[in-house]
Amino acid sequence: MKAGVIAVQGDVSEHADAVRRAAASHGVDADVVEIREAGIVPDCDVLLMPGGESTTISRLLREEGIDEEITVHVHEGKPVLATCAGLIVASRDAKDERVDTIDLLDVTVDRNAFGRQADSFEAPLDVTGLDEPFPAVFIRAPVIDEVGGDVEVLAEWNGDPVAVKQGPVVGTSFHPELTDDARIHDLAFFAQEYAGSDVDVGAEAAE
Ligand code: GLN
Repeated sequence: MKAGVIAVQGDVSEHADAVRRAAASHGVDADVVEIREAGIVPDCDVLLMPGGESTTISRLLREEGIDEEITVHVHEGKPVLATCAGLIVASRDAKDERVDTIDLLDVTVDRNAFGRQADSFEAPLDVTGLDEPFPAVFIRAPVIDEVGGDVEVLAEWNGDPVAVKQGPVVGTSFHPELTDDARIHDLAFFAQEYAGSDVDVGAEAAE
């Protein structure tokens, strides 16, 4: 499996580790490539859009022409996991003119709604498709405030959606790559098109 991590900015290596762990739990080798230029996304089976700074990430994706390749990837039905700033970039609207969203998920987000860096926190989250709560790390996390009809809410915190899925795209406000628990990566990639839906998600991806 070839997994592309958008690496123009943000927490790249943690996602690479998490996707390798999730793949290994299914006996699959993940060949992880870092994406900083156009031409690589079309070879990838799955994509990860990490956290970081959404203004910077969206600008660089556009400048490099990677944004259109990601859209094609999704139209081909291939999985994407977008976390935190990645979710902001993947949204329909971030209500901030400095963020060029690429509209992979029919949601609007409020950037930094969960507060500044100092307000970061961890919470046990019930997530649809996972048997046990997921230890979710929130860092200056966005709130998802509007959710379109085709979007499934996978998890909520204090009544706000914090994990969503639409077709092959999963988005989280939190950072699933910052724990040793790879079940969100497992859910994003192995519960859907990549490996078929008969896979026992999360069985071994939690450490
Ligand atoms: N709120 C940040 C942004 O707007 C994202 C924070 C994060 O990815 N940890 O880009």
